[in-house]
Amino acid sequence: MNKVPFVNKEQIEEIVKTYPTPFHIYDEKGIRENAQAVKEAFAWNKGFKEYFAVKANPNPFLIQILREYGCGCDCSSKTELMLSKAIGATGSDIMFSSNDTPAEEFVYANELGATINLDDFTHIEFLEKTIGKLPETLSCRYNPGGVFKMSNGIMDNPGDSKYGFTTEQLFEGFKIMKEKGVKNFGIHSFLASNTVTNEYYPMLAKQLFELAVKLRDETGAHITFINLSGGVGIPYTPDKEPNDIRAIGEGVRKVYEEILVPAGMGDIAIYTEMGRFMMGPYGALVTKAIHEKHTHKEYIGVDACAVNLMRPAMYGAYHHITVLGKEDAVCDHKYDVTGSLCENNDKFAIDRNLPQIDKGDYLVIHDTGAHGFAMGYNYNGKLKSAELLLQEDGGVKLIRRAEEPKDYFATLDCFEIFKELGSK
Ligand SMILES: *Cc1c(COP(=O)(O)O)cnc(C)c1O
Repeated sequence: MNKVPFVNKEQIEEIVKTYPTPFHIYDEKGIRENAQAVKEAFAWNKGFKEYFAVKANPNPFLIQILREYGCGCDCSSKTELMLSKAIGATGSDIMFSSNDTPAEEFVYANELGATINLDDFTHIEFLEKTIGKLPETLSCRYNPGGVFKMSNGIMDNPGDSKYGFTTEQLFEGFKIMKEKGVKNFGIHSFLASNTVTNEYYPMLAKQLFELAVKLRDETGAHITFINLSGGVGIPYTPDKEPNDIRAIGEGVRKVYEEILVPAGMGDIAIYTEMGRFMMGPYGALVTKAIHEKHTHKEYIGVDACAVNLMRPAMYGAYHHITVLGKEDAVCDHKYDVTGSLCENNDKFAIDRNLPQIDKGDYLVIHDTGAHGFAMGYNYNGKLKSAELLLQEDGGVKLIRRAEEPKDYFATLDCFEIFKELGSK
């Protein structure tokens, strides 16, 4: 597959007249088409709801777009809850899937009427003590341990992950919760990350549906929803095919009809908490080549750095790069594309074959719509970039301004000298 950016050179040259690089830009058309496809793929399930994983991209303007397609918010912290509330998502529009949760965050989630998804057996008692009485609807995160295998060899290692209840804890937990007055139960599980295959959700669903039948039979719990959580991936590299959400929805429907319907559980709602799949491909980091360096290797220095996109530095993640205006040029140069942090892992690409890059060229770093800007930080005193929305009509809207020095100094207002810097 040839990865083509959703913006071209002419558009970027126009945009930078108002908004200098670096910035993240998002593709409204792509976001909408994908959200519609997700909605249609699961339309067979009456209670279906996608709770967008806010952590993947906490920009309220983008989440508002998803809200138009019926999406709720999956939150894991107080500020994410506050953000959701501010854009009108409360009550059953919020899934609170957190872990190692501070008491005050449970209190706030409960105040908002969010559906709480417990990460641990001990949180049953912790939640009860914290808010007085368990809510009528409560969900538990399940972790069967072991490894999760699929036919194409992709797997993940739930046995190594910090999340969720064991099988025994789940059965015991449901019994206790039922005694304590919980009426509606949910099961949640996230067993593999960034799965670029249509198999993951159906396989996970089968496992959870079978579990749901057993849980109902053994504990008498009334299970009202099953949350397949996140993990549906996107192809970061050009050799991979994107997932087909309609095939995924059909796959889940098939096992639903095989397992839940015959068990008399055909009213269970399917929830998802996709982050990456909803937003990842529809964001790009646009940056300018400002230096070239010829030493032991060939380096291109750009005006973005790992604070704008941490995934390559943190996980060695691949993000495709297009040099605007040179889409069809031969990739006969091998570069390390670097940012300016005083950290040698601040590289967007290592030994990447690209066309010859000249100073002033604009580079589009693909697939930054999820876990991109969101993971930003301020190391080396670097400031976070602006976020722009490329609207369906081709117009561009600022949806988050770039940080300024005053933002960096704002939390030092306990010092007289910084009070002044923080207010400028
Ligand atoms: C990160 C996360 C998600 C989103 O995962 P993606 O892989 O981005 O889809 C969903 N739910 C929970 C609880 C998460 O921690």
